[in-house]
Amino acid sequence: MKKTQQLYEGKAKKVYATEDDRYVIVDYKDDATAFNGLKKGSIAGKGVINNRVTNYMMKLLEEKGIPTHFVEEISQRETVVKKVKIIPLEVIVRNIAAGSFSKRFGVPEGQKLLCPTLEYCYKDDALGDPMVNDSHILACGWATKEELDTISSYALKINEIMQEFFLKANILLVDFKLEFGKTADGTIVLADEISPDTCRFWDATTMQKLDKDRFRRDLGGVEDAYQEIFKRLLGE
Ligand code: UDP
Repeated sequence: MKKTQQLYEGKAKKVYATEDDRYVIVDYKDDATAFNGLKKGSIAGKGVINNRVTNYMMKLLEEKGIPTHFVEEISQRETVVKKVKIIPLEVIVRNIAAGSFSKRFGVPEGQKLLCPTLEYCYKDDALGDPMVNDSHILACGWATKEELDTISSYALKINEIMQEFFLKANILLVDFKLEFGKTADGTIVLADEISPDTCRFWDATTMQKLDKDRFRRDLGGVEDAYQEIFKRLLGE
């Protein structure tokens, strides 16, 4: 499948139309942003790693019964995915307190949560992606009750699959963000990416951070952390 015109350029990816209007091509960039675009930079090799890690995870999740947008990896940085209408919610699952959860609730970073938590943020850069609850989502029509039930059950199942999978690579899955989309026939599928940009990964032995927090917090070793995740998952 070939790219035709560019449809969209986001912070980390470009999206292109194809000759077939059921599909689009995602092209992963090395650009990195944090704090709603306030911090900008570049992480060498990130686009390749995020593309390949995402596709690896999407295939694994499909095998375990989660419908995804994944179709075919066509190059190191490019993947054909189903064209979907993105549901404007960031779905955040947490197993260990960190980041905005720790800040908001005063729970120390690293404290294990008694059960996974699920949060939704309304995707709107101008508003700073505010946290919303189920009733806000239904009242504003961002998803129906049925869609939200599907999304929450997929998110928790994805968490179980991913937690177990990453632990085998000696990685703690601290938290992560998912996005879902709706295909033309109304099916809800997992979309966007699953990568060190969108997940917090800690080495289970040393607690070393192996994700975008190294960039956000100027911890150094950003490229090495992304490479380490790549190596542990894909063995390269
Ligand atoms: N996250 C993301 N995109 C966002 C916000 C959060 O991918 O726009 C991910 C982030 O990498 C982390 C999880 O969601 O794995 C929870 O992030 P948190 O709410 O703690 O926000 P942060 O501290 O990253 O601002």
